[in-house]
Amino acid sequence: MEYDDLLHRTVQSEARCPLCVLMEDREFEVISQLQYTVTRDEAVRRSIAHEGGFCDFHFRQFRKIANSETNAILLITMVNEYVRHRWATNITCRICADIARLEKGLLDDLARLLHLVAFRHLFAESGGVCLGHLSSLQERCKSDELAMWLGETQIRQMERLMPDLVAMRTLSYFDATHSQRSCIVRVVEKYVGRKALGL
Ligand SMILES: [Zn+2]
Ligand SMILES: [Zn+2]
Repeated sequence: MEYDDLLHRTVQSEARCPLCVLMEDREFEVISQLQYTVTRDEAVRRSIAHEGGFCDFHFRQFRKIANSETNAILLITMVNEYVRHRWATNITCRICADIARLEKGLLDDLARLLHLVAFRHLFAESGGVCLGHLSSLQERCKSDELAMWLGETQIRQMERLMPDLVAMRTLSYFDATHSQRSCIVRVVEKYVGRKALGL
């Protein structure tokens, strides 16, 4: 319910997996806010240090979004806290936790929307979801019929990527259209989700 409008708009306007797109946008938002808090608040830096920092993916994203001063400020606290306390570090990445909450909400809402015929038409015309999100959606389907429809729709959506891929074998980068160039990212994202894209 919470994400119905957002999902409608994203499915309509994006060629990529709508869930991956929204999670990626949220990641950027969370990390942008975090870099300010990290700079200003020693307590936040210490609690991130206690959490073992971030997972490898989010550490890479944080490093790219925050400037070197902010990165250094955070890492100084982390190293100091490690030297003082020598924690056996189990990483509990707060960014992963935030994104996982969003992902669950999006999956629940999208699975419910897909029971509506009008939304199914919209979804079938879109680029569809990545394979990881396809499995998660199929697990949430209340009917086998919907799970099968999702699988068949995915095949048609993947087949539609083929002409652009084939064109990219021979076109130079500048002769290709944006859609043709972006097909490589869209296909890789089908297999590995949003992590196919760097920031
Ligand atoms: Zn996805
Ligand atoms: Zn993470």
